[in-house]
Amino acid sequence: MKKILVANRGEIALRVMRTARKMGIKTVAVFSEADREAPHVRFADEAVCIGPPPSNRSYLLGDKIIETALSLGVDGIHPGYGFLSENAAFAQKVQDAGLIFIGPDPYAIEVMGNKLAAKDAVKGYDIPMVPGAESAISDVEEAQKIARQVGLPILIKAAAGGGGKGMRIVEHEQDLPAQMERAISEAQSAFGDGAVFIEKYIASPRHIEIQVLADSHGNVVHLFERECSVQRRHQKVVEEAPSSVLTPEVRAAMGQAAVMVAKACRYKGAGTVEFLIDEQLNFYFLEMNTRLQVEHPVTELISGVDLVEQQIRIARGETLSFTQDELHIRGHALELRVYAEDPYDNFHPSIGKLEVYRRPKGEGIRVDDGFEEGMDIPIYYDPMIAKLITYGETRSAAIHRMLEAIEMYQIEGVATTLPFGKFVCQHEAFTSGHFDTHFVQHYFNIEALKESNREEGLYAALLALQLYTEEKKKLHIPEVGGSNWKYFR
Ligand code: ADP
Repeated sequence: MKKILVANRGEIALRVMRTARKMGIKTVAVFSEADREAPHVRFADEAVCIGPPPSNRSYLLGDKIIETALSLGVDGIHPGYGFLSENAAFAQKVQDAGLIFIGPDPYAIEVMGNKLAAKDAVKGYDIPMVPGAESAISDVEEAQKIARQVGLPILIKAAAGGGGKGMRIVEHEQDLPAQMERAISEAQSAFGDGAVFIEKYIASPRHIEIQVLADSHGNVVHLFERECSVQRRHQKVVEEAPSSVLTPEVRAAMGQAAVMVAKACRYKGAGTVEFLIDEQLNFYFLEMNTRLQVEHPVTELISGVDLVEQQIRIARGETLSFTQDELHIRGHALELRVYAEDPYDNFHPSIGKLEVYRRPKGEGIRVDDGFEEGMDIPIYYDPMIAKLITYGETRSAAIHRMLEAIEMYQIEGVATTLPFGKFVCQHEAFTSGHFDTHFVQHYFNIEALKESNREEGLYAALLALQLYTEEKKKLHIPEVGGSNWKYFR
């Protein structure tokens, strides 16, 4: 592979191109009129404008992107995340055009793109699943029967759902008919597919996902877990690796289950198998994401593996150069998604110009972004400015570094979620590791936000004291010396 087109924008386009360049591969950017000055456009060896700002007239135009690739002698297309990354028809067209899709085959994308098809595909592999319906349900009586079987509360989910959308909790049986009706019509309008199913609503779950890598020769490994329980409206906002609750036994069992899920759909490339775990550390398969995840950097930092490089090598047909036994967790990494949203105003998008934009720098701090000072945040796309990632030998060191990095990060002109990150990293529930997916719902409010952003000195000191003593018994990290930080400065 000598030339790769990145069918994406922003931080992920830049991140993919950096690895491609490191590997001696030329890069092609495609961009919309809103992104003329974007860093990914300037970084690429070649760049082509493919349309006006709205993504359905630019970044989602698969045929035009393939045409561009062919006209520039590109051999592979990397889809990043979002946009066309989980579009099986696009992956098929890329292959039909004689190009390499840097991702799994269309079959795996198709199967895992539908939560019900995914559950069906992994059925024979002894993967624990959330109790509930195994097929689409439209009949209220049947829904009632399942609700009684698994016990309320239940969650009605869209089979084609994603991005935390299309889910409804039902706590009382009399609400079921109305909620079913709403869920079906929402699923229909949001995803063009009205199929819904039922899962038992796990009361106090943690979201833990496993990174997998699979080559085209049947080798599959996992790169441990990422914990993504800090969520807002079912969307991840702070992620970390490793999780502070997994025991080596549960980690190994989840890793093995994830490998089986990948095998079940003949997976190829980098993928993520998502699970929920309950308070007793029982884990349940949720779904598989057939792309590079937003939060992949935390895995890179603790494993020392460049996931984009692996994606490219696998797409080139290479055999994985390491086995499961050669992979180890070293240290701890955190990621905060820095959005142009105002945490003091119900997280409303705060679109505008980055009047001041200065990244934090230093040992253990990584910033993946796609903006420069003076640029406007376009209204057309996801308002994520950057991912702030920190690394430390221990969880408390990574949290400390995150607090320091947030302090150093200078962004003016738009409101950001940095103060929210500070709130999370100073909160006792987070620092002690005793939290679940309801962290934000339980603890976050404006008063607490103001407080945490006022008394940082005191909180940081308390944090240091408390964590130092508690940490050793909480973390179950294998004792391996050294650090992976050198790979990802
Ligand atoms: P999406 O594809 O929209 O991201 P997921 O199935 O991955 O949907 O779930 C997203 C989040 O919703 C999970 O991380 C969790 O917080 C919550 N969730 C999903 N299923 C359940 C469940 N059965 N019980 C409790 N929470 C759930």
